[in-house]
Amino acid sequence: MKKGKLFVISGPSAVGKGTLCKRLLSGSGGAGMELSVSMTTRKPRPGEKDGKSYYFVTEGEFRSQIGKGGFLEYAEVFGCMYGTPKEPVLAALDRGSNVLLEIDVQGALQVRGNYPESQLVFILPPSLAELRRRIRHRGSETQEQVARRLDKAVSEIAVISEYDYAVVNNSLTHAVAELREVIEGRHDRLEAAEAADIAKRFAGE
Ligand code: 5GP
Repeated sequence: MKKGKLFVISGPSAVGKGTLCKRLLSGSGGAGMELSVSMTTRKPRPGEKDGKSYYFVTEGEFRSQIGKGGFLEYAEVFGCMYGTPKEPVLAALDRGSNVLLEIDVQGALQVRGNYPESQLVFILPPSLAELRRRIRHRGSETQEQVARRLDKAVSEIAVISEYDYAVVNNSLTHAVAELREVIEGRHDRLEAAEAADIAKRFAGE
């Protein structure tokens, strides 16, 4: 049986990755694609459900999972631990399903190291000003947290050259269509010069 493909989606916090992934999975083209549910030590936000948004665990449970070699990748993000449970992803790929991971840049680079055939997609905001607006709009962050998330966004965008594709989340419909092109192998790959331009533009904003 043909194995599934592993797609990794990263991008700054509040860029809209979650909404994009959900849209992608619910629309046509989402068939045969599974979204991995990560484990985290972060506390749930209002409306988030255990086992659906994340598996919410204690630090002890997370560490025990690391000890068992149970993660495909894991990283510390904003003071909390996040990791991709390995077994369900490998099982889905073996079944021939494509798998989507929505994880941060550190995790994406680990996946690339272990699974060189994985496809890395970076979701960009139209601008940093727009990203700031989206983080504030979410309303769950203090001013200091907003500033930290923006700083992290710039440092994440700085490694965009490691990614295979870049998609700007300007209009949701357009961004979903582009993601579909990536999955179907119809999207242009990110060129080195283009990646360098993007990193420079955001660093100077
Ligand atoms: P949030 O707390 O806003 O849900 O997520 C914060 C960051 O953690 C986001 O950039 C998200 O992509 C990343 N993240 C979520 N799950 C994982 C994971 O399993 N591994 C890694 N490395 N990052 C993750």
